[in-house]
Amino acid sequence: MCGVCGVYNFENAAEMLYLGIFALQHRGQDNAGMAVWDGQEVRIHKDRGLVFDIFQPGVLQSLPGRIGIGHTRYPTAGDSSMANAQPHYADTSRGRMVIVSNGDITNMLEQTRLLKSRGFTPYGSNDAEVIVATVAYHYEQTGDPARAISLMMDEIRGSYSAILLFNGDLYVFRDPLGIRPLAMGSLDGRWLFASESCAIETMGGAFMREVAPGELVIVTPQGLNSTQLKKSERLAHCVFEHIYFSRPDSVIFGESVAQKRFMLGQRLAGEHPARADLVMPVPDSSNNAALGFSRESGLPYKLALIRSHYIGRTFIGSTQAIRDFAVRLKFNPDRSLINGKRLAVVDDSIVRGTTSNKIMRMLREAGAREIHLRIASPPIAHSCFYGVDTPRRSELIASAKSVAQIRDFVGVDSLGYLSLPGLRSCLSRPDDYCYACLTGDYPVPPPNLK
Ligand code: SF4
Repeated sequence: MCGVCGVYNFENAAEMLYLGIFALQHRGQDNAGMAVWDGQEVRIHKDRGLVFDIFQPGVLQSLPGRIGIGHTRYPTAGDSSMANAQPHYADTSRGRMVIVSNGDITNMLEQTRLLKSRGFTPYGSNDAEVIVATVAYHYEQTGDPARAISLMMDEIRGSYSAILLFNGDLYVFRDPLGIRPLAMGSLDGRWLFASESCAIETMGGAFMREVAPGELVIVTPQGLNSTQLKKSERLAHCVFEHIYFSRPDSVIFGESVAQKRFMLGQRLAGEHPARADLVMPVPDSSNNAALGFSRESGLPYKLALIRSHYIGRTFIGSTQAIRDFAVRLKFNPDRSLINGKRLAVVDDSIVRGTTSNKIMRMLREAGAREIHLRIASPPIAHSCFYGVDTPRRSELIASAKSVAQIRDFVGVDSLGYLSLPGLRSCLSRPDDYCYACLTGDYPVPPPNLK
């Protein structure tokens, strides 16, 4: 889960990128970075932390230029150290190639070995470094960046939504399965790219369309050019972009995220009605699903759990003890709404179950008489290998426990998950999605199952 952004021909590219990656902060809070081309050379700045903290005015002024790329990072492959912070680069005989990418490649070890056997060693072990090193290698062989990207796509498997900056031109491309999103937009005839349409709008632009799976969009002084480099027999959009990751004000895979979540909640209420006094979300990613549940069930919608927005994921991540403490910092129940009530609580998913358990305990302490937990997705029983930091399979509570056992573990009176057919029925093109963490049916062989 990362956010990428690219801007072309703006008076101050760094300021535009700031707006873009700020709007993508929810996709990664560990590191952020930018690369800006000033017409002669490319300057890179990246650091640990939030966009707001890293890109103070002095830093933005040190990145002059009209063309640039930006990134916010949540660690998946590799750790959260600066060595893995993006943008990454590879030097060629005709200039430096710089890349930002969202996703995970599944054949990284083999590809790194292949590159080394060709005498072309990536600087580090991050998947974006392997992508840019592979493109750079083929560029040295062919002298054609587009051909080099096409050859990279032949070799690299997995997910990547990427923007490459090379001598002032932008190369924007997406893996043939279209696993992660990538939007393009315009502002006064100039081009903007971002993981989500909400970032295009935050930059003041108009969302136009998504970069298609397997497509390469090239922006040069001569204009914008598009080539369909690869065509896959199937698509595999990440269904969790709709369930959880993306911002609700984005259009992802051609569909409004807020509208999809509302539909998931409606369908959930139909599948698992609850005898309750009110319905409440676990904010914020479940707000729209709870609204849908409320509409379908007729139960009043109450914001009975308040979320603090001043806590980053960096803090949440590392150990179980820190995660426990962070749940208290993040959520506080409104006793005046909860005391003596039967609650229908809507959440988007359950991962380990430990966070759900703590929230439900808080609700009991606030006086909840009954808790009926409703989950707007099927159980997550398998790990993700395409850019989402799900834990090892053994840590996923649904990999080993039944729904009844999970109900007891999280401490609720009843538990209902949306069914897979229910989830599919809410999507306009359900066959175009990846459901691997729900079903174990991986569209690209994961590293340890080959
Ligand atoms: Fe998304 Fe799950 Fe597929 Fe990963 S495995 S891409 S989280 S649907």
